[in-house]
Amino acid sequence: MNIKINSQTLYKTVIQNNYCSGCGICTATANSPFTMQLTQNGQYLPEIKNELSATGTVCPFANDQPDETQIAKQLFENTGEQFHTKFGYYKNIYAGYVHTENFRMQGSSGGSVTWLTQQLLDKNLIDYVINVVEQHSPEIRFKYQVSTNTESNTKGSKSKYYPTNLEEVLSFVKQHQGRYALVGLPCFIKGIRLLQQTEPVFAERILFNISIFCGHLKSTHYLSSLISQFSVDEKAVKHFDFRYKIPGQKAADYGTKIITTGDKSFIKPNKELFGTNWGWGLFKLKACDYCDDIIGETADISFGDAWIPKYEDDYKGTNIIVTRHSVLDELIKTHISKGDLHFEKISPGELIQSQAGGFRHRREGLAYRLYLQQKKGDFVPEKRVKPEKIKSKKRRKIYKIRMQLQEKSFYSKHYNNIPALKIELLPLIHKLERVYEHSAWTKFRLKLKKWLKKQ
Ligand SMILES: Cc1cc2nc3c(=O)[nH]c(=O)nc-3n(C[C@H](O)[C@H](O)[C@H](O)COP(=O)(O)OP(=O)(O)OC[C@H]3O[C@@H](n4cnc5c(N)ncnc54)[C@H](O)[C@@H]3O)c2cc1C
Ligand code: SF4
Ligand code: SF4
Repeated sequence: MNIKINSQTLYKTVIQNNYCSGCGICTATANSPFTMQLTQNGQYLPEIKNELSATGTVCPFANDQPDETQIAKQLFENTGEQFHTKFGYYKNIYAGYVHTENFRMQGSSGGSVTWLTQQLLDKNLIDYVINVVEQHSPEIRFKYQVSTNTESNTKGSKSKYYPTNLEEVLSFVKQHQGRYALVGLPCFIKGIRLLQQTEPVFAERILFNISIFCGHLKSTHYLSSLISQFSVDEKAVKHFDFRYKIPGQKAADYGTKIITTGDKSFIKPNKELFGTNWGWGLFKLKACDYCDDIIGETADISFGDAWIPKYEDDYKGTNIIVTRHSVLDELIKTHISKGDLHFEKISPGELIQSQAGGFRHRREGLAYRLYLQQKKGDFVPEKRVKPEKIKSKKRRKIYKIRMQLQEKSFYSKHYNNIPALKIELLPLIHKLERVYEHSAWTKFRLKLKKWLKKQ
């Protein structure tokens, strides 16, 4: 199976049809014709800097290449890993949080990603951490950095629902010998694994691939739409926090915090901000609707939020960790024993429960979206899920409306004018909610009928 793809083919298939997540991996192969650009729609896309040629490059969305299961099999099959049909290889699954220092309060959920990268630096297992940090600039709010010390590593804490790409940092890796750990979204990590198979320098240097779970990624317009609801000038915002923890609230009921150049800080619960309902998928990249890796199956370790009732009441946040690399699993076990980490093992069922919506949308929903795209006769990326006209009429309606919402919001010119955005989107949102209400009512009626029959 080919890993490299002809750059002309890549351009005509993935890029022109917008199945691109903007990861920037395709810029890192030798003689790549691509460089990353932020488009007016607020997403990164590769732009042609040299003439397109038959030069091979690498992309996690290209067809005719190993999928996540095949990549993970090569890496983890012989290292004593277990396999689950829904989320691939794993050694152990834990839920909990970091006890020591301020990692948890500074982090999105349990603070474990930043704790782990700090441990790798402190234990001299790596020289560099590659993570995403705030830029304090209105043009580019967040981007990948290479850090070597505690201060810059901890600046990478928190989830950024904002596009980034790996072009600059991969170029740094190529030029600087050293041992790296990279934190990325599942499709970024898949891309890195493919790159490591074609360009040995990345395999020699990037020693740990760390993934965060991913529901979907937003364009920059999502952040602009949130700022516009604070009645401050977008350019005057110097700090933006997508995941502000609100004492006394449920972990999922977090807020958005901004600080302006005059050092004024503003906080709003996300419930009060239009567009934060994750199920609507506003400003979502199209690629995310064609991605079937929720937890980062090809990474050495993956981190997510424990969206399970028993952890949700704690506003400070709780992680789920899925380990695959024995060094990282041992590190976690050692620090659980020492008391630095407060973690317990959980079952595969609980992991799936914590991401139930994500699995439904990216398995059943993906099958239907692939079916719809295939029917149009367009290019469709090959996935582990096969195209299918799913049986449930109600679910088909839900997925169709979600696709319309994605497209309409993504290309909307009113992203920072909420009244105008609402005029554009609310008819679709109400339509979606009516499908849910209708199905809840139908369920109730059927139950009632059954009960009456028994009487
Ligand atoms: C776009 C996106 C979608 C997500 N969807 C889900 C989901 O559906 N379900 C779920 O359980 N969890 C999801 N997460 C992960 C979750 O929000 C937390 O990041 C995760 O639980 C780790 O929390 P922590 O407290 O351990 O991490 P922290 O200690 O806060 O560290 C977070 C790490 O993630 C890195 N990071 C932040 N944003 C990005 C980014 N855009 N691209 C690459 N790296 C980044 C940071 O640099 C840092 O290294 C998502 C995160 C992102 C960025
Ligand atoms: S998904 Fe990544 S590798 Fe593929 S075309 Fe887009 S930027 Fe390039
Ligand atoms: S949903 Fe998939 S394609 Fe989208 S950013 Fe996350 S991992 Fe990448």
